[in-house]
Amino acid sequence: MVANINEIQSAAAALLNEGKVKLVLGYRVRGNDRVPAFVTQADQVGCLAYDSACTQNLAAYLRKGEVRSRMPLAVVARPEVMRSLMLLTAESQIAEGQVTVLAVDEQGFHGVLDLAGTAKLLNEQYARIAPDSSLMEQLAKIEAMTPQERSAFWSEQFEPCTRCYACRAACPGCFCERCIVEMNTPQWISTAAESHGNFAWHMIRAFHQAGRCVECGACQDACPQGIPLMLLNHFIAREVEREFDARNGYDPQAEPVIGSWKQDDKQEYIR
Ligand code: SF4
Ligand code: SF4
Repeated sequence: MVANINEIQSAAAALLNEGKVKLVLGYRVRGNDRVPAFVTQADQVGCLAYDSACTQNLAAYLRKGEVRSRMPLAVVARPEVMRSLMLLTAESQIAEGQVTVLAVDEQGFHGVLDLAGTAKLLNEQYARIAPDSSLMEQLAKIEAMTPQERSAFWSEQFEPCTRCYACRAACPGCFCERCIVEMNTPQWISTAAESHGNFAWHMIRAFHQAGRCVECGACQDACPQGIPLMLLNHFIAREVEREFDARNGYDPQAEPVIGSWKQDDKQEYIR
């Protein structure tokens, strides 16, 4: 457990007592699991916990009506969750004054921040969050494949997908009220858990996350089939950085990579 959990609890209690927030979204311990905590009273903050097992991305709750009705609220946020908050700001899903950040990382608590302060902290201290070296090696192997080999590789990875959509539910970036994969008039892609439908679902998901995924890992953690979604997420994030010089979730005013166009775009991403 983070040594200064008392600081997180005290900050949360002060925000609630002073009426600055109506809800603190954090984590609590349940057996061996870390689950979301929804704290609305200062005398409840003792349940709040934080350690490296708190991997769920709490920003995903900000799309839920029952949580939004409690704004302004505070969120216990590690760097990847802070990046989600930047993305949601850039996409007009949240605004300054609605969300206060209780900033944490593996080392401890870094204070109570507004969204502008969160952007500053992210860019000053966490500007270069990168996958570990073994993952980078896997990405390099995929990069070296021919398009045919790559297609076969991803098809094999997606084969066990049961289309439960737990990955989508865990992702703060999936906030459409109706997802294209469930539409049947017209039906854009097969809803069956079979090779073609699975491939189409994962390609659509990947394109919708291009330039948006903050590489938090919550989707992969949620997947009951153990599908290596982070391989694809990291792969695309590196591609976006290389082709568009964009790093997702660092700029609350960022234009969407997929939704904007520049005369000097290299357009090497189509190949
Ligand atoms: S796609 Fe996965 S890693 Fe990316 S933001 Fe969503 S939950 Fe996080
Ligand atoms: S959580 Fe896993 S099994 Fe479920 S839809 Fe996502 S990738 Fe498929």
